[in-house]
Formats: sequence, structure tokens, C-alpha cells
Amino acid sequence: MEKIKMTTPLVEMDGDEMTRILWKLIKDELILPFVDLKTEYYDLGLEYRNETNDQVTADSAEATKKYGVAVKCATITPNAARMTEYDLKQMWKSPNGTIRAMLDGTVFRAPIIVKGIEPYVSNWTKPITIARHAYGDVYKASEMKIPAAGKAELVYTNEAGEETRELIHEFDGPGILQGMHNLNGSIESFARSCFNYALDTAQNLWFATKDTISKKYDHTFKDIFAEIFEAEYKEKFEAAGIEYFYTLIDDAVARVMRSEGGYIWACKNYDGDVMSDMVATAFGSLSMMTSVLVSPQGYFEYEAAHGTVQRHYYKYLKGEETSTNPIATIFAWTGAMRKRGELDQLPELQKFADKLEKACIDTIENGEMTGDLYLISTLENKKKLNTEEFIQAIRKTLESNM
Ligand code: NAP
Ligand code: MG
Repeated sequence: MEKIKMTTPLVEMDGDEMTRILWKLIKDELILPFVDLKTEYYDLGLEYRNETNDQVTADSAEATKKYGVAVKCATITPNAARMTEYDLKQMWKSPNGTIRAMLDGTVFRAPIIVKGIEPYVSNWTKPITIARHAYGDVYKASEMKIPAAGKAELVYTNEAGEETRELIHEFDGPGILQGMHNLNGSIESFARSCFNYALDTAQNLWFATKDTISKKYDHTFKDIFAEIFEAEYKEKFEAAGIEYFYTLIDDAVARVMRSEGGYIWACKNYDGDVMSDMVATAFGSLSMMTSVLVSPQGYFEYEAAHGTVQRHYYKYLKGEETSTNPIATIFAWTGAMRKRGELDQLPELQKFADKLEKACIDTIENGEMTGDLYLISTLENKKKLNTEEFIQAIRKTLESNM
């Protein structure tokens, strides 16, 4: 069989620990035998980030701007323990944070649904994709403990030195205080990323805030989304047969619980933090959650939502058997290949991505799975495979489906 041709390289961002092991296995067993793979390789493994003073992370983000599509392996975000473990020059920042800041992007997370792994909410038969605004609000807030009676005000001083004040509260005893902000530019980028991703995946977009109570702060989010939608996306949405729907956050939560899924739920920073954990847990497993960073210009970076699976890696290093789930990392590759195929008009590459995803799902639905899924699967005839066996099982399904 002739291998599928590519014209533009994918930006390949390699990573750390067990996911780095999976990365190579996935390429060797599931991609390279079928695709004449073109990538521009960046090693985001912690050792090389340290060696290059993290320049490689910035370079990989620049390459994503140049080519438009990247696929990323999970990477270590250094903490004190990693400083010693890897003898680091500095506590380098999270690569995901660096890339997100450089692309000004929003992260969309969606579960991969398979028979046998049943969501706790039984009517959720389609994936719910959460888009979390990743800037500001309570995550960049200033706080104070108020020790005793006194007056608290918001003060804004413009560049000419003129002040605008707003009373927060006249304290008659001790209390607490918080000041937070956001930026119109960041909200606009968030809105465009959401509208682009809704068009890209042909799904409805929901957005909700507490604008009835927060008449300036939350209302600005609502207004910016509405203005950008009217001016730039309304007609495109109509042509694609999808909807943009705004409601109050309380109403959104109630509707989400009653829904069957199949839409994108855009959330302010805090709502997204909380709701993404709820949605991920309700769908069954972090190892079955995909993640894609979408920039307002329409650059895409695909990855798994989980980390480097450190505990499994240490077992692997000791020569012990592991059963690590590669599905989310495989779906990062298929997402990136499908997008590349779409942009470069390579239907064969798009079809291959579909087939590889189907092979993953068929394999699990036939009862072959890794330990994490084995624990929660409701299938009667299920079998736990180790990391290598499971990837081989997917390869076998893929070859027989072809
Ligand atoms: P993790 O790698 O997501 O793993 C946490 C636990 O979840 C694992 O120990 C394992 O449970 C289970 N798990 C996660 N993915 C799995 C998979 N594919 N197959 C089977 N089980 C899976 O989180 P962590 O251990 O807290 O973090 C490890 C490193 O990853 C950290 O250095 C962190 O900085 C980094 N991280 C990176 C990213 C990213 O690059 N996007 C995201 C999060 C964390 P059991 O041990 O019970 O089997
Ligand atoms: Mg959280």
C-alpha cells in the first residue's frame, strides 16, 4: 500500500515521561506505516527546554503561527521537586501557558465517547466541549483582609491623573475585599476563538455569565460576544446551520444537565475551571479527554488533556509492565492530521484520521482496553491489555478496517 502524502509539515512538540514513550509508539505503530509523515520537530521534553533556556518552547509556538497546525505531547510543568530531579537552571514556566500566551488562544476540551464507558449523566449521549477563558478575573485579583471599620472604594486613575471612584462598602467591622479585572482585547480573542471553533466543528455555541447581577463586568462579556457575532459570524453560522446562544449562567447549568450534549459551552475563567472538572468526571475518564488550543487567527494546537502520567513512567523505568491509555494522545494526532488534510485539501489524510479514531473506538468497544478503562467499563467481555499490547490491538483493528 502506498503511504498517504502530506504537503505542509505539522509542528510536532514532543514531551515528557510516559507520554513521551506513548508518542514514539503511536508514531511507529499507528502513523508512520500508513502516512508519509511530514513534521517540523521541537523537543519540549524538560531536559531540552532547560538546555535551550526554554527557547524551544517559544520557537515551537512561532512555528505554529507559521504553519497553522501543531500536535503536542504532555510536558512537565516544573515545581520544586522537578528542579532537583532534572537539575534545572530555573523553574521554567508551563509550556502550555507560554504557548497559549503567544497564540492568544482558548483551550477547548471534549470527551471521547465509547460504549461501555457510560457518563454519570445518562442523557449525555454526545460530547460537551468546554471552552474556558484563560485570562483574568479571580485568577489575577488583588485581595485584602479588612481589619476594622472603614471605607473601601474602587479607584481608577487615567493617564492624565484624573480619578474615578466607586464605593465598594462602608465597613463597620472586619471583612474581606477583592478587586479583579479583565481586558476587552482578551475577551474579544476568546469570543473569536469560540466562534471559529464552533464553525470548525459545526456545533452550536453556548455562552453564559451573571450579567443580571454584574451589570458592567459580566455584561461587557455578553456585549462583546454579541457585537463580534453580529459583525463577523452571524452569516457564517447561518450558512453552517449552527447557532450562537446566550443565557444566564444558572439557566445554562440547568440546560446542560437536561441536554444530550453535542455543543460547545464557553465559560468565563472561573466557571470554566469548575465546570470542566465536572464535565470531565461525569464523562468518565481524564485519559479520554482531548484538548485543542485555538487562536483567534485560527491556529490549532492539539493535545491530550492529561499530564505525563509520572507514576506509570517510574514503573516503566523499573522495567515493570504499564497499562497507560494512549487514546487522548492518538486523538491529538488525528485532530492535527485531519486539520492539516482539510487546510491542504488532502482527503486521504482526513480519511486516515477518521479511520484511526474509529479503530481506537472499535478496539475498546470490542472489549480490549487499558487498566484505567477496564476499571470502569460496563462491558461484559473485557480484557485488560498493557501499553504495547493495546497499541498493537488498535493497529490490528485499523488494518482489518482498511
Ligand atoms: P497526570 O499525568 O494526568 O496523571 C494523574 C493520574 O491520572 C495518573 O497517575 C493515572 O492514575 C491517571 N492517568 C492520567 N492519564 C492517564 C492515561 N493516559 N492512562 C492511564 N491513566 C492515566 O497528572 P499528574 O501525575 O498530576 O502530573 C504529571 C505531570 O504532568 C506533572 O509534571 C504535570 O506538570 C504534568 N502535566 C502536564 C499537562 C500538559 O502538558 N498538558 C497537563 C497536566 C499535568 P493512576 O496512577 O491511578 O493509574
Ligand atoms: Mg480546576
